[in-house]
Amino acid sequence: MAQAFRKTPKNGVRCWTEGMSSKYDVLVIGGGNAALCAAISARRAGASVLVLEGAPKFYRGGNTRHTRNMRCAHDAATEILTGPYTEEEFWDDLLRVTGGETDEELARFMIHESKDILNWIVEQGVRWQPSLGGTLSLGRTNSFFLGGGRAMLNALYLTAERLGVEIRYDAEVVDIKIEDGMFLSAELKQPVGGTTTVAAATLVAAAGGFEANIEWLREYWGEAADNFLIRGTPYNRGSILKMLLAKGVQEVGDPTQCHAVAIDARAPKFDGGIITRHDSVVFGIVVNKHAQRFYDEGEDIWPKRYAIWGRLVAAQPDQIAHIIFDSTVVTSFMPTLFPPIAGDTIAELAGKLELDPTALEKTITEFNAAVRPGTFDHTVLDDCRTEGIEPPKTHWARRIETPPYLAYPVRPGITFTYLGTRVNKQARMLMKDGRPSANMFAAGEIMAGNVLGRGYAAGIGMTIGSVFGRIAGREAAKNARN
Ligand SMILES: Cc1cc2nc3c(=O)[nH]c(=O)nc-3n(C[C@H](O)[C@H](O)[C@H](O)COP(=O)(O)OP(=O)(O)OC[C@H]3O[C@@H](n4cnc5c(N)ncnc54)[C@H](O)[C@@H]3O)c2cc1C
Repeated sequence: MAQAFRKTPKNGVRCWTEGMSSKYDVLVIGGGNAALCAAISARRAGASVLVLEGAPKFYRGGNTRHTRNMRCAHDAATEILTGPYTEEEFWDDLLRVTGGETDEELARFMIHESKDILNWIVEQGVRWQPSLGGTLSLGRTNSFFLGGGRAMLNALYLTAERLGVEIRYDAEVVDIKIEDGMFLSAELKQPVGGTTTVAAATLVAAAGGFEANIEWLREYWGEAADNFLIRGTPYNRGSILKMLLAKGVQEVGDPTQCHAVAIDARAPKFDGGIITRHDSVVFGIVVNKHAQRFYDEGEDIWPKRYAIWGRLVAAQPDQIAHIIFDSTVVTSFMPTLFPPIAGDTIAELAGKLELDPTALEKTITEFNAAVRPGTFDHTVLDDCRTEGIEPPKTHWARRIETPPYLAYPVRPGITFTYLGTRVNKQARMLMKDGRPSANMFAAGEIMAGNVLGRGYAAGIGMTIGSVFGRIAGREAAKNARN
């Protein structure tokens, strides 16, 4: 069929039509940080760019809407960062949290590139603000978005639009045509206009993980997955990831690995966001539905432990647990959306939590008896510990004895999954036989498993998206020109 060049009247972007379908230089699937960084970068490199965001405009931006900060290496303090954070220190942190399950070459490359992102992202209209302290103590390592993730996204969308990136909302990609490692076209479904085919010279897949696809999670977690709460967008169902893996792209990462924290059991199924996360574990004890403790609540300082509690609760019967503390610590941690459940006696509290009162009284009595005297300081590994009980509480152990007694019910809150597409330093996807794809790139959660085999360091999700998004866009534009 004959091809005809056309100018889109709105932005003057070059694309060409072939029958009923349009052809762009770069097609970006997704509408979060990784997608926008890729789109802007490709457009700045002279490409015509179409962004397909599966969500309606109001919900645009996936999990990025919920974010607050990004971890970047820097050699000196800045106006908003309290001190240096060298590439080597960033690498050490990553190595520790992943237990070595990371692609060293790619991870070191990303860390190096992160230095430049601090300025690049500002050039795209995003503003920083100083850290407000907070539970995770990130003032030196992480830069906070002024106004949070939504404001950050709004700035990126505005920049993309001003540059002439074409954006379609409610545009879920339902199929991708790939032949011998080469992307040809995508089929998208829209509420108005039905199904359309879009062709492009290159593809950037930035469509997130599969955390919102309970059926897919069930393949690895069994029925326990039904009790998981998803902290972010319901639109990250992993459909693009599944298509790419089914069409020859090499996978990376363990499908059971994900970032999961303990969030309030009363939170909505999706999109509860940051205000449902509980950071009170170190101030009390955590019991399961049998009123039994199951893990050392004081194992290490909270920033190094908060991300294990989602998995710990997932392993408990019915995937439910309760953080229990007393009235003396209630102002020691950040409040959350839901108030604690209170009882004047342990038995009353147990009744409200639907726990066996005798069992809860026994657990707390035994715990209190095991607490050794010490000097409490939750900012260091203090000497307040238990002796003679299993599991121990190795720091910050204090008796629970001042009513009212309080509790938060918690469930596993899944942030994002790590299974992804393998990429190289150009953010170019690799095929199952090891060959680089002719014209397909990936950025963000969809390829996070290259860097994050397991574990997590706060703020690294946005680093992965920004660094590889910027590179993917640039490389896709270059590829389209050739
Ligand atoms: C509550 C919460 C707080 C967080 N806080 C932080 C933080 O402070 N710092 C940090 O670094 N990380 C944080 N994260 C993780 C962070 O959100 C992600 O790492 C990051 O946003 C990933 O960006 P992304 O662009 O890859 O994916 P997303 O931002 O999730 O975007 C994926 C996009 O793909 C679209 N999509 C999916 N399927 C299709 C399809 N078939 N067709 C078209 N579009 C599709 C979705 O609608 C969405 O727009 C947080 C996550 C949550 C849930």
